[in-house]
This record gives sequence, C-alpha cells and structure tokens, in this order.
Amino acid sequence: ATIALSRAKEQGGRQICFFTDAMGRELIARHRLERDLKQGLIRQEVSLHYQPIVNLQNGQPLGFECLLRWHHSEQGFIRPDIFIPIAESSGLIRDLGNWVIETACRQLAHWRRQGWSLYASVNISTRQIPDGVAPNWLLKVTRDLGLEPAALVLEVTESVFATDLEAVTDWLREVRALGFRIYLDDFGTGYSSLSYLKNFPLDAVKVDRTFVRDMVEQERDRALIRAILAMCQELDLQVVAEGIENAVQRQLLCDLDCAYGQGYLFSRPLPVGEFEAFLKAHAS
Ligand code: C2E
Ligand code: MG
Ligand code: MG
Ligand code: MG
Repeated sequence: ATIALSRAKEQGGRQICFFTDAMGRELIARHRLERDLKQGLIRQEVSLHYQPIVNLQNGQPLGFECLLRWHHSEQGFIRPDIFIPIAESSGLIRDLGNWVIETACRQLAHWRRQGWSLYASVNISTRQIPDGVAPNWLLKVTRDLGLEPAALVLEVTESVFATDLEAVTDWLREVRALGFRIYLDDFGTGYSSLSYLKNFPLDAVKVDRTFVRDMVEQERDRALIRAILAMCQELDLQVVAEGIENAVQRQLLCDLDCAYGQGYLFSRPLPVGEFEAFLKAHAS
C-alpha cells in the first residue's frame, strides 16, 4: 500500500490517492477477518447448519447438506460467500474444512444412533484438493465413528477442473474407490465441459438453483434442465435440484422425473435442534 501511495503522489492524482486509500482499508478489513476467522475456529464461533436433501415425490429427507456458519463476535453472522474466499486465499480452509468434515460425521453418527437413516453432504473447496483432504484421513474419520464411506458425500464445484486436472482426477478416483460419494455442485454455472461428466468419477450432479429459479417463467431453462436430466440418466448419474422454493418448481421437476431436491420449500438450513424437529415432523 505504501508503494502504491508514493506512486500515486508522484503522479499527483487525487483520485488515485483516494482509490489506494480505499484499497488499503479493504486490505486491512480483509486481513482482520482472516485473523478473526482463525480465532473464531478456535473460539467455536463457527457452526454447521443442516439442510435436508429430499425425495421430490414424497418430500422425505434422505440426507442433509452441511453449511458453514460464522458468528463473528462483533459483526454478527457473516455470509459464507464472504468468509469462504478469505479462508481459501489464506489457506485456513484446510483446518476449517477438516473441522466441517469431522463435525458433519460426528453429527451424522449421532443421528444414525437415534435411528435416522440419512447421509451427510459436505462442501469441499477446490483449494482442499488434492492435498488438504487425505483419502486415508477420510477413511479414519468415518471408520472411527462406525460410518460406512458411502454415508459421506463430498460436493465439489466445476472449478476443480480448472486446476491440476491430473492430480484432481487421481484424488477423485481414490476417494471414490474407497466408497465415498462425489456430487458435482452448482452444475451449469462453471467451466463445465460435458466430457468431464463422462470421464470423472461422479455420483450425482446438483443442478444450480438459477436454473430452478427461472424454469417456471423461462422455457429455455426448462429445456436445459430437461437436457441435463436426460444426459445424466444416460450416464447413470443422479440429479439433485437445488434452490426449490415453491410447489410449482417442485411439480415441474417431478414431471421431468427429477428424483431429488433441496430448497426452502422443504426447509432452510437449520441449526441442530431445529433440524431434529424437522426430522421428527417428517418421520414416515
Ligand atoms: P452451495 O454449496 O451451493 O450451498 C447452497 C446454498 O444455497 C446455501 O447458501 C443455501 O443456504 C442456499 N439455499 C438452499 N436452498 C435455497 C433456496 O431454496 N433458495 C435460495 N435462494 N437459496 C437456497 P449458503 O449457506 O449461504 O452457502 C453459500 C455457499 O458457501 C455454498 O453454496 C458453498 O459453496 C459455500 N459453503 C458453505 N459451507 C461451506 C463449507 O463448509 N465449505 C466450503 N468449501 N464451502 C462452503
Ligand atoms: Mg453445496
Ligand atoms: Mg450448490
Ligand atoms: Mg453455491
């Protein structure tokens, strides 16, 4: 920031000085959040919320996605869209990500003991692959809790394909060979190439909520979802529709034979106690 400032002075530009000032403030704010998040992990300011993944036909919960929440001591709740990128660029995502996996598995094991037959799905940042999450560590975590590997789903986004493709592929193959499941998250928004669907070891794709949001109004979005469903069926991939907010969207998806879904229509992501209440209310 000092260098930028002196350069701005040389050029005598007022606007440029103002700009670097703002940039400096942003850097400091970001640095603070980074430091606070590190502390927050230790001070237990982070928690998971759980959102059911349901059978679209009957609404029964089959599993749940674990979504990270951070309650900052002074600033209150900070959105994952804000703090996850900070965790990624600072490298903290590894510790944070491992905490998520352990917490999710412990919670799942607890609910299994209570008789709920569910699976847990966690988001894995591209920055955690391949070195941040060792396949053998995953095996140990689940085994110690008496969970079979298939009880754990790892959600990756299409951005994994933009990194070291070979290393990522090896990691995916290894993890999947151990029995863990892989979902491709936010499908349709990233660098997707259809060849990835063919060549990568995947269990399901999660159709991004922007398609679901627009499908009621836009025939084009409906056509896209129809095409994704047909393609996934050919490739033996399951499909989970994200962001279902109303009954019309659900009905359209059911009509297209989409089997699984997630969204506010069924439930928002909930803290532990409220999620348990949701499970009891939906006991079949
Ligand atoms: P995502 O994995 O695609 O998660 C789905 C997001 O959509 C969640 O936002 C969820 O609250 C929201 N959502 C669910 N149903 C609906 C709906 O019906 N309508 C609308 N408008 N939104 C819905 P959230 O919890 O804010 O998380 C945002 C993103 O942050 C996640 O997107 C994921 O990419 C990332 N994230 C969250 N937790 C973790 C984590 O533990 N690790 C990593 N690496 N990323 C995480
Ligand atoms: Mg996800
Ligand atoms: Mg998603
Ligand atoms: Mg997302």
